[in-house]
Amino acid sequence: MSWQAADLLKQQIPLLDYLQGQGWKPAQRAASGRLLGLCLLHPDQRPSLLVDPSKNLFYCYGCGRGGDVIRLAELYHGVRFAEAMALLRHWGGIGSLLPDVARFYQLHLQRHAEAAAYLMQRGLQAKVIEELRIGYAPGRCLRGWLMSLGYPLADLQQAGLVNAEGYDTYSHRIVFPLEQNLYGRSIGAAVPHRFLPGSKGGLYAWQKVRHYPEIIVVEGLFDLAVLWQAGFHNVTCTLGTHLNALQFRQLCADHECGGKPRSVYLVFDSDPNGSGQKAAQSLSQRLRAAGINTRRVELPAGHDPNSFFVSGGNAAEFRCLLEKPCQ
Ligand SMILES: [Zn+2]
Repeated sequence: MSWQAADLLKQQIPLLDYLQGQGWKPAQRAASGRLLGLCLLHPDQRPSLLVDPSKNLFYCYGCGRGGDVIRLAELYHGVRFAEAMALLRHWGGIGSLLPDVARFYQLHLQRHAEAAAYLMQRGLQAKVIEELRIGYAPGRCLRGWLMSLGYPLADLQQAGLVNAEGYDTYSHRIVFPLEQNLYGRSIGAAVPHRFLPGSKGGLYAWQKVRHYPEIIVVEGLFDLAVLWQAGFHNVTCTLGTHLNALQFRQLCADHECGGKPRSVYLVFDSDPNGSGQKAAQSLSQRLRAAGINTRRVELPAGHDPNSFFVSGGNAAEFRCLLEKPCQ
């Protein structure tokens, strides 16, 4: 894994770019495209550093050292491999922790049949999996990958990705990247819903839906995914029945859809204990008090939007439910 990370970094940061970023100037150019200049690694009087930009390799005739951009960063800064990787990533403005984690989990989705089977059972097809950048956390491999990218263990623990014992915190979980968090849905026996420490953030993908005059609000990401697949792109998700203050403010900001009052369809779970509908009822009262047209949509008993579609419901039937006067 660490070699994959290194290869990726070498593609992202050409050796010549990095050298020039350190103030290096070639003194001679050969017809082959190779460059010769003063060596940055030893006190050099006449150009002895040979750089091959097409191969991304260097060699110094003076001090006898050579290698790739990572080796150069190690020697130039006097650091070890992992620190050199981190320095280069920082220099190149590449990556930040959560997007790197999300990409890693996306790669793992294809490698684990149990994850693909779970997504199929929840009715998700390839296109929406790609669109929502859904991934899979198998457990016991994220930490090593991130450390090979140069992230210190302390940073991973602080982010909640690795626990105090040093193990990945997300294990056997389908992972949806959020703006500032990662939602992990267990496909095993562990607690079903999990977030990293910190806020779950605003409404899901709010920037993409905020301009719609009508917005469908669901509880969960699997609900959102099936609706998106059925052609409802004006859908967002609260990640639970409780809206935080930011999410409520987002829904109430009415200047964002042409000055007209926005209509909100609340499609919460119709679960046996009634908690979803109770939450929808109290939310619809708060939204109406804030001047938002709100409609509470009732699904057939025992269903959430995900199970409605998985059990054979289609877009036309769902549209009927949206339009049916409830209260
Ligand atoms: Zn040298």
